[in-house]
Amino acid sequence: MISDPQELWQKACQELQKLISPDAFRRWFTSVKPVSFESGRLVLSADNSIYPFWIEENYATQLKESLGLAFGRDVDYAFEITANHHAESTAPNDADDAEPKTGKSPHANDLISRYVFETFVVGANNEFATAAAKAVAESPAKIYNPLFIHGAVGLGKTHLMHAIGHQIIKNKKSNKPPKVVYVTSEQFTNEFITAIQHGETVKFRKRYRQADLLLIDDIQFFAGKLSTQEEFFHTYNALSNGNKQIVLTSDCPPSEVKNLEPRLVSRFEQGLTAELGAPDAETRLAILKAKAAEKDIRLGDSVLTFIAERVKANIRRLEGALNRVAAWVALNERKVTQPQVEELLKDFIQQEARNALTMEDVQKKVVEAFDIRMIDMTSKKRPNNIAIPRMVAMYLCRRLLTRKSLQEIGEAFGGRDHGTVLHACKKIETDLAKDENLRQQVNFLIQKLEAAR
Ligand code: ADP
Ligand code: MG
Repeated sequence: MISDPQELWQKACQELQKLISPDAFRRWFTSVKPVSFESGRLVLSADNSIYPFWIEENYATQLKESLGLAFGRDVDYAFEITANHHAESTAPNDADDAEPKTGKSPHANDLISRYVFETFVVGANNEFATAAAKAVAESPAKIYNPLFIHGAVGLGKTHLMHAIGHQIIKNKKSNKPPKVVYVTSEQFTNEFITAIQHGETVKFRKRYRQADLLLIDDIQFFAGKLSTQEEFFHTYNALSNGNKQIVLTSDCPPSEVKNLEPRLVSRFEQGLTAELGAPDAETRLAILKAKAAEKDIRLGDSVLTFIAERVKANIRRLEGALNRVAAWVALNERKVTQPQVEELLKDFIQQEARNALTMEDVQKKVVEAFDIRMIDMTSKKRPNNIAIPRMVAMYLCRRLLTRKSLQEIGEAFGGRDHGTVLHACKKIETDLAKDENLRQQVNFLIQKLEAAR
């Protein structure tokens, strides 16, 4: 079970965002911070009493429900008001230059304590990314700068990124602890906008440019925000010229991030790009066992194996499934049977079935539509009447099966490398923009494949 208030709050916010509008969430919840979590009671802090008042009036049920979902059972909450907050108080990790009393980095609080290398289970899907993250943590700004980690949701990007931060703090060489700044690109954007509104851009810049390690999570949300990108570009250059390590994550490789300035893309590509793929059955089981041990949840091997076999799409869901079963066991104080697990996880399992479209399904549909042979999908032949459908199939796998890594897609197409897949996707995207016939054909294929999900 979760014991860290930060972690509980972060998870609850994820649930909450499914229940209320992005606008409401941004306005009322982004400045609320978790303070403590003891005996099932979460204390939250707000800048002034308007927040708790409004939240109680309008979002009490949703908040309660989100906390329940995040924790696995009911959570009580209470607010405390932080006095003397100034305009920038929404920036939780505002740097003050005083030496912290704990000897830790002032920003260490932004890192979830559980997200360390020790709790990260290594499997084929994340081996390369983990090795890269560890290398960066051991020699910040010396080998790969930036480190760019990408992959679909729930595969461990944030976990790995925090692990780098923890490790660098742990390895500190001098008395002065390294300044680690962790933000999501959305936080960065919001803080930047607030700073402009309050004429505090100098302070904003100082805070970011003093970092020894800058971690920016989910940079896909920089999409289209041009003035923020401009600001980030300068932050980026200042840090990279000052030999400071930068780590970025995104749901896709740099060149595929929508509406990102080319100069940022090229900066991001200068370092090392590492992809997180979906874990195989063995890794999922290892992760489940580790999580169960960490949370002191005791479930039989057969139950764990069952969960690992059924919940594949992402590790956050895998954890959610485990929490749900564990909550049931805790409430009922008896062993859970497989049919009960099946019942408990019904919605997870249904969701998985919807996600069950395979690369072979995609290849088959493309083969039919273009009237070629299945073997052409894996062959090395290059005439256009074969190469184009093959590239269309790669494009569709990339687009519809977001859990598949470029590498996995390449393998399914006769052992091609990930660069070839990326190139194929790009080419098809360009062709789609100018070829009406192809566009119709591809849309038709997407419809058919979506319907088959
Ligand atoms: P992302 O940022 O890619 O959406 P997260 O880093 O938030 O994913 O991971 C989702 C959850 O899965 C977290 O609780 C994280 O600890 C867990 N997780 C992901 N990968 C692993 C792994 N290899 N070993 C242990 N836990 C993992
Ligand atoms: Mg994340």
